[in-house]
Amino acid sequence: MHITMIGSGYVGLVSGACFADFGHVVTCVDTDAGKIDRLNRGEIPIYEPGLDELVATNARQGRLSFTTELAPAVKGADAVFIGVGTPSRRGDGHADLSYVFAAAKTIGEALGEKFTVVVTKSTVPVGTGDEVERIIREIRPDADFAVVSNPEFLREGAAIEDFKRPDRVVIGTEDARAREVMEEIYRPLSLNAPPLFFVGRRTSELTKYAANAFLATKITFINEIADLCEKVGADVQDVARGIGLDKRIGPKFLHAGPGYGGSCFPKDTLALLKTGQDEGAPLRIVETVVAVNDARKRLMARKIMQALGGSVRGKRIALLGLAFKPNTDDMRDAPSISIVASLVGDGASVHAYDPESMEQARPLMPEVSFHDDAYGAIEGADALAIVTEWDAFRALDLDRVKTLMKSPIIVDMRNVYRPAEARKRGFTYVSVGRS
Ligand code: NAD
Repeated sequence: MHITMIGSGYVGLVSGACFADFGHVVTCVDTDAGKIDRLNRGEIPIYEPGLDELVATNARQGRLSFTTELAPAVKGADAVFIGVGTPSRRGDGHADLSYVFAAAKTIGEALGEKFTVVVTKSTVPVGTGDEVERIIREIRPDADFAVVSNPEFLREGAAIEDFKRPDRVVIGTEDARAREVMEEIYRPLSLNAPPLFFVGRRTSELTKYAANAFLATKITFINEIADLCEKVGADVQDVARGIGLDKRIGPKFLHAGPGYGGSCFPKDTLALLKTGQDEGAPLRIVETVVAVNDARKRLMARKIMQALGGSVRGKRIALLGLAFKPNTDDMRDAPSISIVASLVGDGASVHAYDPESMEQARPLMPEVSFHDDAYGAIEGADALAIVTEWDAFRALDLDRVKTLMKSPIIVDMRNVYRPAEARKRGFTYVSVGRS
């Protein structure tokens, strides 16, 4: 199959490289010429474990190429995937579909004679497929094409594994020829187990939002249980294990912490709320999840203040981890952003270290001093806050940490350490949902 991937970001680049690895011939397109230049030089513009090798191998073997020129890449393609961003629209929380519609327009202008499947892989609100179809049809009334929804469920940090071994692939189409093309594209997956789930296009679009909203709800639920644990002297990790062993609940997404962030959950929950409101079917549970999660980030900054006796004014705070989760450099909507803003606003000086995201973090938090390693950030600190649970922070030399710090206070927002152990080493240790 000849595949064109429009948008070479976290989703487009990973999907494109994996499709190439399946044996398809893939052209990744992006309007960001700097990104395409770097890719053509063999550099990977994002941090995603294993992606550099996957891209290099497939590029070397001639199955993966990069360009800013959309038209020639669309002409001969069996399928054109749209993997551009769908951020929150400024002001109202609706998904901003301008990139998707711009891509649809250029596809319409470039379509060749043969049957082409246009696939929205971006997360898009219900009905977007109809609009993409309308845009292309208006430009090219004669074209032979079908618009399919195929939302992506990969997680940053484990993206290649998720793409190659998905729980399911949801494909929304009512078109028999498009179904055949999609089956052929994903056939290498079906050799292991057939995770292809064909549904209507609108159902597919909504499934993606429902999945993300449900996961955000699970996280928020355990976060509130964590707050209650702190009040009543219970341990949230044991509660999570205790309920997660129930197969109806499952153990995943039950880790209490500083609230969800990242490039998907915040914007997708908001966009789903907007769809619900527009359609007269409000999603009250999700509304509450969004509000509780927003408040949680402020609560985390307060946790640090309380650990320091009520104020951080004039204090030096070390933050370990800035990305919204480990194994990514993605800073979009990371909880660290609001935590830093609160701390700096209250007069603290913040010293930070993250293994991969500091380049992206710098412009978002200009007041922060960045360090080359964890111990550099910790030196002279009045308190240390662990915000993202990178493996490198799970086994810090606590004796060295204690010697370096001005006062031995740890606020562990990811429950990486055992309270008894940290206290035995002489720390004032505060975590989440463990009294
Ligand atoms: P991203 O910002 O990393 O990448 C988007 C890319 O599209 C950018 O490189 C941008 O330059 C390019 N682009 C924009 N308009 C273009 C156009 N007209 N032609 C060509 N390129 C264009 O975004 P992302 O994180 O990869 O997300 C893409 C979509 O996938 C979003 O809808 C997102 O919600 C969804 N998604 C993301 C993830 C994730 O973990 N990041 C997971 C599942 C789904």
